Amino acid sequence: MLLSGWGRYPVEECDLVSPVTASLAHREIQSTQHGQVIPRGLGRSYGDSALAPHVISSAYLNHILDFNPDEGLVRCQSGVSLDDLINVFLPQGWFLSVTPGTRFVSVGGAIASDVHGKNHHIDGCFSHYIKSIKILLAGGDMVTCSREVNTELFRATCGGMGLTGLILEVELYLKAVKSSFIDETIIKTSNLDHTLELFDRYKSSTYSVAWIDCLATGQNMGRSLLMLGEHSLQGGYSVPTKKNISVPVDMPSVLLNSYSVNAFNTLYYHRIRQPVIEHRVHYQPFFYPLDAIANWNRLYGKNGFCQYQFVIPVESGAEGMTEVLNRIVESKRGSFLAVLKAFGEKNDNYLSFPVRGYTLALDFKIDRQLFAFLEELDKIVLAYGGRVYLTKDARLGENSFKASYDSWEAFVDIRKRYNADSVFNSLQSMRLGI
Ligand SMILES: Cc1cc2nc3c(=O)[nH]c(=O)nc-3n(C[C@H](O)[C@H](O)[C@H](O)COP(=O)(O)OP(=O)(O)OC[C@H]3O[C@@H](n4cnc5c(N)ncnc54)[C@H](O)[C@@H]3O)c2cc1C
Repeated sequence: MLLSGWGRYPVEECDLVSPVTASLAHREIQSTQHGQVIPRGLGRSYGDSALAPHVISSAYLNHILDFNPDEGLVRCQSGVSLDDLINVFLPQGWFLSVTPGTRFVSVGGAIASDVHGKNHHIDGCFSHYIKSIKILLAGGDMVTCSREVNTELFRATCGGMGLTGLILEVELYLKAVKSSFIDETIIKTSNLDHTLELFDRYKSSTYSVAWIDCLATGQNMGRSLLMLGEHSLQGGYSVPTKKNISVPVDMPSVLLNSYSVNAFNTLYYHRIRQPVIEHRVHYQPFFYPLDAIANWNRLYGKNGFCQYQFVIPVESGAEGMTEVLNRIVESKRGSFLAVLKAFGEKNDNYLSFPVRGYTLALDFKIDRQLFAFLEELDKIVLAYGGRVYLTKDARLGENSFKASYDSWEAFVDIRKRYNADSVFNSLQSMRLGI
């Protein structure tokens, strides 16, 4: 069948199998041509990291197996989604310790990308809350890895983009909460320096994220709505009943141009009239605003889009972000979504993305000049010591990858040691030379 990531580029013809047990998964891996298999969760990575001639889906490895309420420790299969975990455990007073901006990702996918949320500056990545992982290796062995056993396999699997084997089962710590609500503060900032200063001032806020008007120029460049949040003690454990809306067809991509993005950004920025507002919101609009519109990726038209997410270390964050934003303004390529977050310390997984600094994510519709433009942005990002997030990527060059992920050789060695390189490869890993 034809498959793609969330950005709908590239589209590849793949054999997709969805085994219901580990032994059937093993049989599938053995029967496919070597070197051409990649695991897949819910396909929310944007580019080609979950694409290969043979794709092995965790769709039916979707059982919650055990829960220890003393520790908040859940044991589940890798195809369980974050949405499933919230629906089952939030009414009992538990939430995810780390969550990305969509709840429609699988636990296996969240580990393989070592995803981060709006609390990375305090709580780190998804892998910090993993006690152990059971993984199916290339040769058919099922191995448990953790920070105590098979440590290097654990560090390569968390953030390893599916390239060490198929994650089967996971033990994951949840976080105790008192309600489904978040006490949110929204602060209007006037430019990038102001935004970064406020990130620093509010660094003890559990959650922080800024939406940036990426087409604002001059004195206003980098003006934002900074959103801070804490789990509320009030409101109870309600589950929303509102139905989501959906984008039924591909939108004509001409509708997305610098004029429409500029108009949207101006309206969105000015929707908040006061400099600061404080209110209580449900967890869904706070953590997952985009999940309210099913198939929103169709808004970018049939050619699809790329999300460009990069991080620049804190020392050069302001300067590097300014240069990137200047280049975007000059190019007149707007992005509705321009999300800025502050990262805390880097962890020791070989390919995890975050380093202490600032990360910006932007969506660009695909046209003939886009990749040349993104290569220009790569040069700026790399010059400031930064790097691009692999789970959003569909086009990064091998040299840029290897120059910015300094543990890539150690990662490749571990793949060889477990014979994973002869079985598990994605279009992305082949492009990046790992
Ligand atoms: C709207 C939106 C918002 C997002 N916000 C964030 C965010 O805030 N922070 C963030 O970090 N990410 C974010 N993401 C990215 C998303 O969290 C990651 O791409 C995540 O990995 C997707 O999980 P998935 O189950 O869809 O995996 P897929 O897209 O199917 O696969 C992603 C990678 O995981 C591997 N994989 C999947 N399942 C397994 C398995 N069982 N065993 C081994 N490897 C496996 C695949 O091989 C592939 O390399 C966002 C994505 C969207 C669409």
